Amino acid sequence: MRTWQKPSFRSLLQETSIFVTCVELVNSRGVIAEREGTRMLKLARELSQNPQIHALCITSNAGGNAMLSGDTLGTDLISRGQEVVIHLSCKDWNRNGLQSQAWKLASEGFNNVLALSGDYPISGYQGQASAVFDIDSVGVLKMMSEMNAGLKISAGQKKKDRVLKQTSFFLGAVVNNHKQYEREVMPQYFKLKKKIENGASFIINQIGYDTRKQDELLKYMDWSGLHVSVLANVYVLSLTAARFFHANNIPGVTVTDDLLALIEKQAGSSDKGKTFSLEFAAKQCAIAKGLGFRGVYLGGHLKSSDYERILEIADQFGEDDWKDFSKEICFHQTDEFYFFEPDTSTQLSSTEINREYLHSKSLKALQVSKQNIPLSYKINRVVHDKAFEKGTLGFGLGKKTSQAIERTNKGVQKILHGLEQTFKMAAFGCQDCGDCSLPDIAFLCPESQCAKNQRNGPCGGTYQGKCEVGEKECIWSLAYDRLKAYGQEEQMLNGPAIFKDGSLKGTSAWINTFLERDHHGNGKKQMES
Ligand code: SF4
Repeated sequence: MRTWQKPSFRSLLQETSIFVTCVELVNSRGVIAEREGTRMLKLARELSQNPQIHALCITSNAGGNAMLSGDTLGTDLISRGQEVVIHLSCKDWNRNGLQSQAWKLASEGFNNVLALSGDYPISGYQGQASAVFDIDSVGVLKMMSEMNAGLKISAGQKKKDRVLKQTSFFLGAVVNNHKQYEREVMPQYFKLKKKIENGASFIINQIGYDTRKQDELLKYMDWSGLHVSVLANVYVLSLTAARFFHANNIPGVTVTDDLLALIEKQAGSSDKGKTFSLEFAAKQCAIAKGLGFRGVYLGGHLKSSDYERILEIADQFGEDDWKDFSKEICFHQTDEFYFFEPDTSTQLSSTEINREYLHSKSLKALQVSKQNIPLSYKINRVVHDKAFEKGTLGFGLGKKTSQAIERTNKGVQKILHGLEQTFKMAAFGCQDCGDCSLPDIAFLCPESQCAKNQRNGPCGGTYQGKCEVGEKECIWSLAYDRLKAYGQEEQMLNGPAIFKDGSLKGTSAWINTFLERDHHGNGKKQMES
């Protein structure tokens, strides 16, 4: 096989106007010599020979199952001059594991990293694996951005801190705006901004089959001044995949009844719907180009020749054909929320903000929404504003009291901490992490109520407002509604990336806040290894 160095993914996106094509490779289970591993290696090598495929993207324990580590396949591809985008997710590693993995990737020549929170683990050896989620996608982006700038590490008590060699990661993140409710869509947009602020230089959107939502993403980013490259996710729908997605087996991915019915009908054809699926994907590629995406991220269990065929079909379309295709590929959920009004002539997104949404933010509407907010939340807000907000009389008093408590003996401190914990356990389900995020999430505890302990906004896994794990509402959807009643939802993710400090576990969160030891007082603290 020929080997040649393909242009870097970063330079293609940042220095050219080339429409970039990436293909997702889902790693196999078992060693690479297994049949599946060999098949994947063969596919990857074939794809790397295709000059039309600019980058291969390797997943990390996709779907929450153990898979062969992505760098095994990736190293082979890099040695062949292929550009690789490696997924790095937070479900299986804590921040030290992620940092160590990042150094390994940098040492092996991987520059392009897609930072994800990751799907919740669903399987494991001798039982389901425990999820880690020590940090989240925003945390990984922040940490790796600092590695790019030259990470400062502590070199022991008497020695000066050391600055490590700069890495040169090109960092990306995912956004999922294919959601039904406003309380899901808007926090996704806010988190997107936070990801970009913390270092994401390219964005890949989640799988979705609604062109208006695709268009809205680009228009929202333009409207918000978020100017980074966005790649459209094009997942090729076989009947098996369509049924799998329709049954909500992949968190955050929706195939509607109408779309499933279409795929099922096509599956009755002589080639079991294959020609249709490839053409459908080619139409999505054409739409992505027409809308202004910087490229596509192709996925699906396909052969190398299938990817070639998709690109070949896409090339044969006329320049404006995508406008007709966009009217065909518009599978949205019932009463799905859009930030912008529709453009009635194109059936795409306009740039006029949703009138109903604007109305829901009027003073009169907010007064009505406030009536549905739990009384406990209203009380917590008042207490927090009077006693825990820096600069208030209450905060000053709390600081002095905390200093006094710290001077008492351990027994007294233990009793007071026990009392605090008893109250907070009953009121919030507090898990005694000592680095409290209640004020960040409208007094909902991420330790006890968020399966992934997300402190910088929602993961992408909600379905109709519900958490991807279990049947309860996502805390970030609930927080959005609570904050919106006070006109504060747009600021919900403002501020620096939040990192929980593990050393505070089992200590008084109140004292830590008053003495500014937690993330509220330490927002600008640099991450150190
Ligand atoms: S509560 Fe929300 S952010 Fe947390 S895991 Fe569930 S869906 Fe994700």
